[in-house]
Amino acid sequence: MAQDKMLAVLKEKPKSGVEIKEIPIPKPQKEEVLVKVVVASICGTDISIYDWTPWAEGHIKPPVIIGHELVGEVLEINSTQPTHIKKGDLVSSETHIFDNTCYQCLINNRHICENMELFGIGRNGGFAEYATIPLRTTWKNIASLDPKVMSAQEPLGNAVHVVTKAQVAGKTVLVFGLGPVGLCAIAVAKAYGAKRVIGVNRGDYRRNLGLKMGADEVYESLPKELENKCDVVLEMSGNAEVISEALKAARIAGKLIFFGIPKNEASIDTGKYFINKELSVDSVFGRRIWETWFQVSDLLTEGKVDLKTIITHEFKLSEFEEAMKVMKSGESGKILLIP
Ligand SMILES: [Zn+2]
Ligand SMILES: [Zn+2]
Repeated sequence: MAQDKMLAVLKEKPKSGVEIKEIPIPKPQKEEVLVKVVVASICGTDISIYDWTPWAEGHIKPPVIIGHELVGEVLEINSTQPTHIKKGDLVSSETHIFDNTCYQCLINNRHICENMELFGIGRNGGFAEYATIPLRTTWKNIASLDPKVMSAQEPLGNAVHVVTKAQVAGKTVLVFGLGPVGLCAIAVAKAYGAKRVIGVNRGDYRRNLGLKMGADEVYESLPKELENKCDVVLEMSGNAEVISEALKAARIAGKLIFFGIPKNEASIDTGKYFINKELSVDSVFGRRIWETWFQVSDLLTEGKVDLKTIITHEFKLSEFEEAMKVMKSGESGKILLIP
């Protein structure tokens, strides 16, 4: 391969599928770093992008290099600002690129910036041999961690934010949907002192991973005897049809956190659940910057969450199509791409 070219996974046209092709290696713009990608990992969001769902259509302007979960070695820093990032560091990227000027940014809610750009979605991302990351969303990893683990911190961060918001210590927690973030939520809930953690997932492959991540029990669907018995319910499936199940599972005055994004609009019986049951309902979009990332580092370095349990497949970047097939089968945990 020519020295100035790299392999990249591109959403080139506004339709399903991707192109895997050689393109020029990017140059870091002002206040950006250039990294050589070491490992990237595929996210559920990447399936929506691949399939070109209505959500993807609303967020992506092709052509764009997809992929937002990665670890890379810093080759260049184009900045005049003081920074703790150095050449040779292994860094990851926070997906939510904030503008640092809007109301939410000013009150320290940068993860829900009003003018947010999404890495690997609204701008070029990390399914490539090289990537540029804004310096302000570059996370310096704890050097002792395995790079494969570093690449999957972004979904663990989602789980940490969800579980932190839910305040699970001493509680019975039910997790709906055991994709990678739901699986992480099981381990994090245990680490943060939940009394009993229950997983619900249709496919048995991921139910087994749920048990490995520390779930006390797993079920294919909500058992009758658990209706109105769960203090905390985490909706991680993004399946519009199970939302009413999640509402049923919560006990009176229980807490429900929405995280999974349904493909279609969902309807909810607000009288039955929000009023008669006095449920507390909250939602999470991304990770608190940088509080959640520090929590993730602590869980990993203290050995309280073992991400390797859910890393089930590795593919070369050039084998992206094959990796996507496995990802869509539901018979995988986290799938890694090695450039
Ligand atoms: Zn992700
Ligand atoms: Zn902002």
